[in-house]
Amino acid sequence: MARLIDGKAIAATLRAEVAARAAHLSYRPGLVVVLVGEDAASSVYVRNKDRAATAVGFDSRTIKLAAATSEPELLAVIEGLNNDQEVDGILVQLPLPPHIATEAIIRAIDPAKDVDGFHPENVAALALGKPRLVPCTPRGVMLLLGAAGIDPRGARATVLGRSNIVGRPLAALLLAADATVTIAHSRTRDLAAECRRADILIAAVGRPGLVQGSWIAPGATIIDVGINRAPDGTLVGDVDFASAITVAGAITPVPGGVGPMTIACLLDNTLLAAAARRG
Ligand code: NDP
Repeated sequence: MARLIDGKAIAATLRAEVAARAAHLSYRPGLVVVLVGEDAASSVYVRNKDRAATAVGFDSRTIKLAAATSEPELLAVIEGLNNDQEVDGILVQLPLPPHIATEAIIRAIDPAKDVDGFHPENVAALALGKPRLVPCTPRGVMLLLGAAGIDPRGARATVLGRSNIVGRPLAALLLAADATVTIAHSRTRDLAAECRRADILIAAVGRPGLVQGSWIAPGATIIDVGINRAPDGTLVGDVDFASAITVAGAITPVPGGVGPMTIACLLDNTLLAAAARRG
C-alpha cells in the first residue's frame, strides 16, 4: 500500500513559513489579482487567493472588471499596477474572455511582478536552467517531492501533459533537478508502457482516472495534478486512485494533494518577487 503524500499539511507548513517571513519585513508584500468577467470557477479561485494572501499578512487586492472590458482597458490597468511601487505581484486570472489576447496581456505584466511565472522572460529563464519566478503548480509539485523525501536526481520521471501551465515547466524543473525526463501527451504511442518505466510519474492531463494501477511500476511515486469533476459531483484526479495505491510507493490524493500547493506557492512567489524588487 502506497504512503500518502499529504499536500494539505505540506501546503499549511509553507503558508506558515511565508507568514513568518512576511512578519519580519518592514513592508507588507502586495498582491493584486485581476479578474475579468464573472466565470464561476474563476471567482472561487480568486476569492481563495485573496483570503490566503490576507491570512499570511499580505496587502491583497482583487480588481474585478466587467466581461466587456476591452484589451486596451485591461492593458492600462496592468500598466498602472506595473508602476505602483506597493504592488509586488500581479496575477491576471485565466481564462480571459475570447476578445482579449491572453498572450498580449501576459507580455504586458512586469516580469519582476509576474507571480504566475507565465511571462516569456520567466519562461525563458526556466528553459535556460536559471529559474526566476516559476509557475505555481509545477513548483508545488517539486516542493511536494522534496517534503516527501523523494529525490528526482537520476530518477526516471515521466510527465503526462505538455501544457504551458503545468507539463512543460514541470519537465524543465525536473530536468534542473537532474531527473531523466520523458514528456508524454495525447500523441504518445503506448502511454501505459511509458508510464511503467517511471520512478516518478506525474499526471497533468485532465482525464479522470486515465492512469491505471497496471500502468505503474511497483514502488513508483505518483503525483496527480488532475482536478476533474466526476458525474456524481466529487473531485477526482487523472489517476485511478483505488488501483494505483496498491502498486505505488507514494501517491498524492485528489483533493488534498497538489491543489493546496498551488496557492501556497503563489504566496511564496509573491514574497520572492517582493524581496527581489525591494531588496
Ligand atoms: P491542458 O488541457 O492544457 O493540457 C492537457 C495535456 O494533457 C495536453 O498536453 C494533452 O496533450 C494531454 N492529454 C490530454 N489527453 C490525453 C490522453 N488521453 N493521453 C495523454 N495525454 C493527454 O491541461 P492543464 O495542463 O491546464 O491541466 C491538466 C490537469 O491539471 C487538469 O485536470 C487541470 O484541472 C489540472 N490542474 C490542476 C491544478 C492544481 O492546482 N492542482 C492547476 C492547473 C491544472 P496534447 O498537448 O497532445 O493535446
